[in-house]
Amino acid sequence: MKRCDAKGLAALLRSSQAVVALTGAGISVDSGIPSFRGAQGLWTRYDPLEYAHIRAFRQDPPKVWKMLLELDEVISRAQPNPAHLALAALEQQGKLKGVITQNVDNLHQAAGSRTVVEFHGNAHHFVCLRCGRRYAREELDFSHLPLYCQCQGLIKPDVVFFGEEIPALANAAAWELIERTDLLLVIGTSAAVAPASLLPYAAKRHGALIVEINLESTNLTANLTDYFIPQSASLVLPQALALLSA
Ligand SMILES: [Zn+2]
Repeated sequence: MKRCDAKGLAALLRSSQAVVALTGAGISVDSGIPSFRGAQGLWTRYDPLEYAHIRAFRQDPPKVWKMLLELDEVISRAQPNPAHLALAALEQQGKLKGVITQNVDNLHQAAGSRTVVEFHGNAHHFVCLRCGRRYAREELDFSHLPLYCQCQGLIKPDVVFFGEEIPALANAAAWELIERTDLLLVIGTSAAVAPASLLPYAAKRHGALIVEINLESTNLTANLTDYFIPQSASLVLPQALALLSA
């Protein structure tokens, strides 16, 4: 592993054809969304197994909605930051082939990214647990919770709860990106939880360089990472982008 900076990143990007980004909570912290497990995070006040498990939602929906409304408030206020915008710009230039994200905040799409694989769903969409009907936020009245579908099924945000499977389509799309990338940017995530944890290793097996942008080192840093950039992605990505187009 070598330490790297914006200049080094620009050089790496210049010599790559198919960049893919794997992002996690860390990329959205500068958008005002605290990481779940961090000091300001939801999981310091809500035990995830009690509030974010699909069984809890089915058994006591009003209780879980209390946590969901808090999450919704934080997420609906958030705006994309320069890291999200830089990734969208890289895609527009044809350099970046897609973003695989563990976030549910929709900020990559809001920044203009087109190919976004959402491992954990999207908190801006809603789905009926019984009939699978999807709802837009505007169709729902949050003053009467829990929310029920016309079929009497429970409506839940279209995010992956603990105890639920990763959406099969997202999983397949992620592997497709991983097989063709020659440079994987791991941003704001320790990629510690499967299946996201498998992706950097698979990318490396296919010959990709692994560039990690995290404030602190992770499990990947010593074991897998080729270039480690211990800086905020919202600073280093726009800098590298500017050097790339200079
Ligand atoms: Zn329904």
